[in-house]
Amino acid sequence: MRLIGVNAFLILGDEPTLVDAGHRGSGAMLRRQLAALDHQVTDITRIVCTHGHPDHIGGVQEIARASGAKVLMHPADMERLRIRFREVIRGRPAPGAIIAYLTQAPTDVIAAQDGDVLPVLGGLRVLHTPGHTPGSICLYSATRRLLIVGDLLQRMRGQVTLPNYFFTDDMPLARRSIARLAELDVETILFSHYPPVRQGGRDALRALAS
Ligand SMILES: [Zn+2]
Ligand SMILES: [Zn+2]
Repeated sequence: MRLIGVNAFLILGDEPTLVDAGHRGSGAMLRRQLAALDHQVTDITRIVCTHGHPDHIGGVQEIARASGAKVLMHPADMERLRIRFREVIRGRPAPGAIIAYLTQAPTDVIAAQDGDVLPVLGGLRVLHTPGHTPGSICLYSATRRLLIVGDLLQRMRGQVTLPNYFFTDDMPLARRSIARLAELDVETILFSHYPPVRQGGRDALRALAS
């Protein structure tokens, strides 16, 4: 689903689940696309945020309020969003710290922890993959061989590449997280800002990790 500034993912089934929520104001866009699928916003039971950047969580509050869905996010990014101004200006100002300071944290968030399994897509496992942000998560379905990577990976000229240097907090840590992904059996990779890899996801991850 195209929301403001991001590709979100709607997983239909017994517990319709939205992955990421776009910038603030994405609710109307979501409603239109749901209507085209004969669904409504109240069908959504869960919103999972891959990380705490504003293009992923800006729309969370309005969509959660309209749907009654619960919101899941890794606690390290909830902590990051509580950053104080004096921590932002300490030392060399990092873009990630400034973004976190300017981003409003959602309320009533449930912690999504490494190893949690969501009851969609035959079991969708939460992988804590820090680096882009401290609380970045990926979502993996072993039965579908499908991996949602958020902003941990990009695609440049068709190639799967490292995350954006400017917006990534800790690149060595991101590299370690990518090495962990390369151990998974993956066919399809879904990105937040690029078209999907539909075949050979594992080879692309291994090539990047090495
Ligand atoms: Zn993003
Ligand atoms: Zn991001």
